[in-house]
Amino acid sequence: MTEEKAKPANFIEKIIQDDLASGKHDNIQTRFPPEPNGYLHIGHAKAICVNFGLAQQFGGQCNLRFDDTNPEKEEDEYVQAIQSDVKWLGFDWAGDIHYTSDYFDQLHEWAVYLIKEGKAYVCDLSAEQTKEYRGSFEKVGTNSPFRDRSIEENLALFEKMRLGEFDEGACGLRVKIDMTSPNMSMRDPYIYRIKKATHHQTGDKWCIYPSYDYAHGQSDALEGISHSVCTLEFADHRPLYDWFIENLPVPAQPHQYEFGRLSINYTVTSKRKLRALVEGKVVNGWDDPRMPTISGMRRRGYTPAAIRHFCDSLAVSKTDGTVDVAQLEFFIRDDLNQNAPRGTCVINPLKVVINNMAADHSENITVPFLQDRPEMGEREVPFSSEIYIDQNDFKEEYSKKFKKKFCVGKRIRLRHGYVIEAEGFEKDEQGNIVQVNAKLIENTLGCDPEDGDKPKGVVHWISCAHAVEAELRMYKRLFSDENPDGGNKDFMECLTPDSLEVTTALIEPALAGVAPESVFQFEREGYYVADRVDHSIDKPVFNLTIGLREDKGLAS
Ligand code: ATP
Ligand code: MG
Repeated sequence: MTEEKAKPANFIEKIIQDDLASGKHDNIQTRFPPEPNGYLHIGHAKAICVNFGLAQQFGGQCNLRFDDTNPEKEEDEYVQAIQSDVKWLGFDWAGDIHYTSDYFDQLHEWAVYLIKEGKAYVCDLSAEQTKEYRGSFEKVGTNSPFRDRSIEENLALFEKMRLGEFDEGACGLRVKIDMTSPNMSMRDPYIYRIKKATHHQTGDKWCIYPSYDYAHGQSDALEGISHSVCTLEFADHRPLYDWFIENLPVPAQPHQYEFGRLSINYTVTSKRKLRALVEGKVVNGWDDPRMPTISGMRRRGYTPAAIRHFCDSLAVSKTDGTVDVAQLEFFIRDDLNQNAPRGTCVINPLKVVINNMAADHSENITVPFLQDRPEMGEREVPFSSEIYIDQNDFKEEYSKKFKKKFCVGKRIRLRHGYVIEAEGFEKDEQGNIVQVNAKLIENTLGCDPEDGDKPKGVVHWISCAHAVEAELRMYKRLFSDENPDGGNKDFMECLTPDSLEVTTALIEPALAGVAPESVFQFEREGYYVADRVDHSIDKPVFNLTIGLREDKGLAS
């Protein structure tokens, strides 16, 4: 990346600067609080960059906290995947991993405290009735008939809830705030519900679980979070967040700040929808390279640095916005163009027989993996009298439009190698050119032909005897609709048919044995990554990361 320009501070950075200057805080503590109900996606990558980034920028810490208040949808597989994604992106959390479930005892104690203060009650209304009593934006709510239960009765009922004496949905604990509040989240929200489910951390210890709204701010307070940064949809919940902090004997006074959610066109960023793609077998798992998940992007060959640079390029503002996927792709290409080693892959091979070379001639040409970057090493490229070039690089007819101009009587430079001249070609019965006959122009390794007849183009090639077969997995965008998430569309109806195409190609021998996850620019073809799961020296498998240019089709 080019040297970053100093960006003007965003609104959260300004708040933090002011809080440090005024002495309100002397240490900045943030947290990233994923719910372990799916794999992280590109939207989470932004939240990770914001939260870990603020901590780094102001010399503070960022916690990783699993917001695990909903045992029915959460799994340990997700807990593990999320940790690995955060680390892969290049961040590390302060101290141990935290779980909201670590605070279940404390949260329960504070619920009892609220009952004793006359600020919480057990309500027996059904879900349906609760909705009716709650009113709407136009209509104020009505107090629940259970709102005035005595403190003793509430304590006894809440204890019975905890002991599992009621069925799910029979009752719940609500805080007594204001059923006429214009803010719907202040109309006596439920803070505990009965869920007879086994929890991935606490097992069967609890059958009542706190709500997100109740648990979140108190967890922030317990962890000493100074700035609790979340997305815009929680803005309406902030008065409730503050209400709990004011009405409970919490050890600190955290504040919530909201920024806009990241959406990207041609994709969906919702764990629920991503899960539907996995469960519906539309893709091959959460880490399918077409998925906008962090693990999918990883398997696709996107680099952590490129994803971070993309996230840092986005505004942190108080409005939601949709970003063009081309902006993400720009950062991927920019990084790979500068840093990906080069290699050769011939996708549509056409044999060239060089007749003025001894049939058993073989030599190795030493080629750098990346020009002007000697630290990236070099490889031996075998050259012999029979090579493959791409079918598109030879034409029967000479024409002005054909840039390479490799035709009978014309010359071409073999990339990193010699100049050859076509003398003739052979066709099969269907009229396809199946072989080019050529001659080598002597003394042209690294220099122009002595007779002054310079070739017009350069092509990539592989020695036939040394070429290795590889599986290429070429991906198109998963969705062909710009806004699969929008309006009342069914995102499943917006899928691109055949977004995965598997083909076989030939690669130079040095590429077969590379480590999984190595990304290369296959010269003139695109960026490809050795598949993290399936690639091996015996069966090389490469995924198309992205095309060389924005309009190159397949990758974008
Ligand atoms: P989803 O709807 O995909 O399940 P979520 O907000 O429920 O998303 P969480 O696991 O609760 O997912 O999110 C953890 C953190 O990541 C939260 O602070 C949330 O605000 C943030 N986050 C989630 N999605 C985005 C997004 N698209 N852009 C920015 N931040 C996001
Ligand atoms: Mg959520």
